[in-house]
Amino acid sequence: MGFERDRRTFLTRALGATTGLVAVTAATTVTGPAEAHAADTGVKGARGAKGAVGQRNWRFCPKCFVMFYYGYPDNGHCTAGDAHGMAGYDFDIPHDVLENSNAQANWRFCTRCYSMFFFGYPSGGWCPVGGSHSAAGYNFVLPHDIVETPNAQAYWRFCSNCFALFFWGYQEKGRCPAGGGHNAAGFNFVIPHY
Ligand SMILES: [Zn+2]
Ligand SMILES: [Zn+2]
Ligand SMILES: [Zn+2]
Repeated sequence: MGFERDRRTFLTRALGATTGLVAVTAATTVTGPAEAHAADTGVKGARGAKGAVGQRNWRFCPKCFVMFYYGYPDNGHCTAGDAHGMAGYDFDIPHDVLENSNAQANWRFCTRCYSMFFFGYPSGGWCPVGGSHSAAGYNFVLPHDIVETPNAQAYWRFCSNCFALFFWGYQEKGRCPAGGGHNAAGFNFVIPHY
């Protein structure tokens, strides 16, 4: 229970000044899906009733350094070849909540490579499969420029070349489908995780 409370505190902080309103709205509107999710996975039954707004199973790929969705039997397409690898935290990424000065919307799942990419520009970036990323599913809202905690990792960045979310915390910058390493721009995202 302590963990859940900490997490809510974190999300509340992430959501910023209009928190009261946002938190209430989120708790109300996502009750159905959140309960279904808890039932599906058989874990943390209390979570759905307490404003859970995230999707789990987002992971770091140690081959290309992007954030990708690990919830399907195959693991998409990696710029380094074959499917993405998986390492590190089980990220739990907020979606379909209001954007604010510390949380950016329009981050989406790519149905072709399974990465998280920014869909807020006319172009869909550069997908390792070829062409642009293809958006589907939730509208993710990524917390940024807030304090890192034991349950939220900083140094996730937007790549201005391929539009994917990648981990910038290593000296190496992974593998970008546009060539070379990813190129960080914009916010310093701080992503909640288990
Ligand atoms: Zn990869
Ligand atoms: Zn893609
Ligand atoms: Zn890139």
